[in-house]
Amino acid sequence: MTDSGDGRAELGDLDPPDVRRIKIERTELTYQSPISTAHGPIDHREVVVLTLTDGEGRIGLGEAAPLANFTPELVNEAELAIHRWADDGTLPVGSPTARAAIDGALLDLTARAAGRPVHDLLAPDSSGIVPVSAFVSGDTPDDLASAAAEAVAGGHGTVKVKVAASPFPTDLARLTAVREAIGDKRLRIDANGGWAPGEASEHLARLAALDLELVEEPAAGLEALATVRATSPVPVAIDESARTIDDVRRAIALGSADLVVLKPSALGGPLVTAEVARVVTEAGLGLVVTSLLEGSVGIRSAAHLAAALGALDPAPGLATATLLTADSGPPLLPTKGALVLD
Ligand SMILES: [Mg+2]
Repeated sequence: MTDSGDGRAELGDLDPPDVRRIKIERTELTYQSPISTAHGPIDHREVVVLTLTDGEGRIGLGEAAPLANFTPELVNEAELAIHRWADDGTLPVGSPTARAAIDGALLDLTARAAGRPVHDLLAPDSSGIVPVSAFVSGDTPDDLASAAAEAVAGGHGTVKVKVAASPFPTDLARLTAVREAIGDKRLRIDANGGWAPGEASEHLARLAALDLELVEEPAAGLEALATVRATSPVPVAIDESARTIDDVRRAIALGSADLVVLKPSALGGPLVTAEVARVVTEAGLGLVVTSLLEGSVGIRSAAHLAAALGALDPAPGLATATLLTADSGPPLLPTKGALVLD
């Protein structure tokens, strides 16, 4: 193992585990209520769980969770790519979710063989307590405010609300109600590119009084985001506009973002994401690790990475196993607003 100079192991240099058995199986995630995607709402989704077993019977788990119109591949391609790797060791090209499953499972098994949590293996003495933001929704401002109050009462220090699906006065009323309900806790919003650039600037000027932590994707596309960010009183985070390391480099060059949302499940797992995180951090931008609404096997891998990177403020968006009724593994749910990793 090499060392990056701050005591942190280089992720790719860990000794590979002694894999004796490989199991690749599909499983279905189901959601309590439909989640919105670029293809409309969905209430279930197939993922692939990779289980590696070593000579001592220890297991490492990984998950490939493609999402139509977000990841470049669908579940069939991810599954095929994992099979190819199992057959001849070829690392997937063009299937970041398969790569996430493979690297996630290898790292999990390596850590279990070492008798240490993944985050501690990657970054000795890193904290295994990962505070997470709570995503809240509601039909009316009152419903939304109650959901936000409940999240804060449950220990969450950050609440996230989606905006831009309603006319601005409605969003203003919703967010004002949430701010009143959560006192001085953090409030972040996500417009998913739903505002035109000129509109976004006006809206953010109005919303700044609500002391927002950040806004994700206030407009669509890196150029538009750079325009909005130039005058935004609220820090701008990019998410779906930056799906690859090349997108992230372009965003940095254009000045599109103050922060970058990283979804290890979509980027290619812990090793690839750590590389992207390095580029982001070196450019002086903040990062937020989040899920792609995958199952708990993938969420767990992302949470260990966030812990190892020390990317805990802003709080990762990893409380999403609460949205599932059928999961890919043991549910990783927040306790007092944080995931507790072992
Ligand atoms: Mg987002």
